Amino acid sequence: MAELHFFTGTMDSGKSTLALQTNHNHAQRGRVGRIFTAHDRAGEAILSSRLGLTHDAIEVGPDFDFWRYVVDSLTAGARIDYLVCDEAQFYTPDQIDQLAKVVDELQIDVFAFGILSDFRTRLFAGSARLVELADRMNVLQVEALCWCGKRATHNARTEDGVMVVEGEVIVVGDMESTDGPPAEVAYEVLCRQHHRRRLTAARARAVALSPEPLPFGS
Ligand SMILES: [Zn+2]
Repeated sequence: MAELHFFTGTMDSGKSTLALQTNHNHAQRGRVGRIFTAHDRAGEAILSSRLGLTHDAIEVGPDFDFWRYVVDSLTAGARIDYLVCDEAQFYTPDQIDQLAKVVDELQIDVFAFGILSDFRTRLFAGSARLVELADRMNVLQVEALCWCGKRATHNARTEDGVMVVEGEVIVVGDMESTDGPPAEVAYEVLCRQHHRRRLTAARARAVALSPEPLPFGS
């Protein structure tokens, strides 16, 4: 029986590496798959992992229809045994519903990989729908670490080095700014406590060097 699998973890937990490994393992067994991604850090239509591996992929825009794509491919005579879906947090809830339909109606396995929550600590729309629909949910075992050494469970966004907890959910490159040069956007994984206190590694270093006491209670 085909299943909808959801592999999740913070940034840096090796999701894209596992996505590529999953594709490799199935391809080795003679199975035929399709690889999808959205907003990958390496650019459009590429699945890249932090370890340096990359693979061509189909870019999932907001209007992409998985059901139509698979049905059209099968009708044209192609064989598809499984789908590898990276950056699935960026897919729309409708697209996740299409993936579930592909599993149920066409008996094609779907392996989705994505971050659970965004820099505001809210669930991504795509991930929320995956939690609701997946047959199996797996939390990745490679643990990303906060600068303090605790398990990093939260994703932080910084703009020009300052942590922010509001803004557009999807920002991959630098951000356009109406006043002044574009803000340099970066991401960092933190434990919950340090996410709550907005204490990034850079700010923790600055605080350690300054005579000011740590900002408790914030
Ligand atoms: Zn921490």
